[in-house]
Amino acid sequence: MKKIAILGAGPAGIEAAAVLAANNCPVTLFEKGQQPLCNITDKAFLFPNFADADEVAAALRAKLDNPNITLRCNTEVTQLMPSFIAGFQEENLTGTPVWKVNEELYDVVLLATGYTPFDAHRKEELGYGIYAGVHTSLEMEKMIREKKIVNSVGENPKRVVFLQCVGSRDEKSGNHYCSKLCCVTAVKQAIEVKKLLPECETYVFYMDLRMWGQHFEEMYRTAQQDYGVTFVRGRISEAGGTFDDRVQIKAEDTLLGRPLKMTSDLLVLMVGMEASKGTRQLSEMCHICGEYGFAQSLDPHLNDCRTQGRGLFVAGSCKRPMTLTDAINDGRAAACEILTSL
Ligand code: SF4
Repeated sequence: MKKIAILGAGPAGIEAAAVLAANNCPVTLFEKGQQPLCNITDKAFLFPNFADADEVAAALRAKLDNPNITLRCNTEVTQLMPSFIAGFQEENLTGTPVWKVNEELYDVVLLATGYTPFDAHRKEELGYGIYAGVHTSLEMEKMIREKKIVNSVGENPKRVVFLQCVGSRDEKSGNHYCSKLCCVTAVKQAIEVKKLLPECETYVFYMDLRMWGQHFEEMYRTAQQDYGVTFVRGRISEAGGTFDDRVQIKAEDTLLGRPLKMTSDLLVLMVGMEASKGTRQLSEMCHICGEYGFAQSLDPHLNDCRTQGRGLFVAGSCKRPMTLTDAINDGRAAACEILTSL
C-alpha cells in the first residue's frame, strides 16, 4: 500500500483527502494550525451567494470522517525532499524517489499549503497599525461575523471606505499579479455593512473592478442599485489621522481627473493573497518554487496538479490566488491525478 501525505488541511487538501479515502487509499493530512480550514472559519459569508462560512466549513470538515484519513493538526512540515537512497533501501526498487516529510517517508505527497494574506504594515502610507480607524478586510470580516461594526471609539461608523488592490498589482510591494478575489470581497463586505448599518455611507475605491465570476457582476449592480454603495475609480495615495480618531484620505478620482480629500470613520484595506510561508519554504526545498513564491505545476493547462518531481503533486491556492470553489475542484483534480499515477 502506497503511503500518501497531504500537506495542508484547507479546502483543496481536504477535498483531495476525501476523494483518495473514498477510493481506499489511506492518507495522512498534515495541518500546522490547531484546526483545519482556518481561511474559511475566519469569514462570515461567502460570495457570491452569501453562504454561511461556518456551514460550508462544517460540510467540508465532515468529509474527514473516514477511517482512511488521519488528520494531524499542530504539525508543521518543515522538511520536504526526495529521498532516493531510502527509496532503494525500502520496498521501492524501481528508483522512484520516496519523499521525506519531516522525518517520515511517503510515496506520494500533495502540497496544498495555501496562501497568506498580504501584511498591510508593508504599505506604511496607508497607516495600518498607526491609525485606529484603518483595518484590513480580514478585520472587517471579523466585525461582520460578530455583527458589531464600530469605529475607533466604539460607535457605529457613519462612513466606511474600502480600498482595493492593497498588496496586489503594486510595484512597491513587488506583487504585480491580481489577487482575483478582493474586488468581489469588497462588494460583498460593502453590502454586509449596509445590511447591518443602512445609514452608513460606503465607498469603494478601485483601479478596475474585476467581477469575472458567475453572479459577481450582479452583486456589483445590486450593491449600487439596492444598497447605495458608491464606487470611485481612483487610488488612495495616503491615509492619516484626525484629532477625533477618524481617517483622513488623500486620493485621486481618475475618472474626473482631480485630487480629492475625504474623512472616514473606517478605512478598510482589501489585502491580496501571497504564497504562505510553508508554500515558499517547501516549494523551494523541492525545486518547484515559481514566481512570487507560489508552487509551480508542470504545465498550467495540461498538467496543473503534477510537478517536475515524481510523486509530488500540487493543489489549491499554493499555486496562485484561487476561489474556494476553484480550490475544492483543484483538490479533486489532484486526487484523480494521484489515483491515475498509482
Ligand atoms: S481582485 Fe480587484 S482588488 Fe484584488 S487585486 Fe485584482 S483588481 Fe485589485
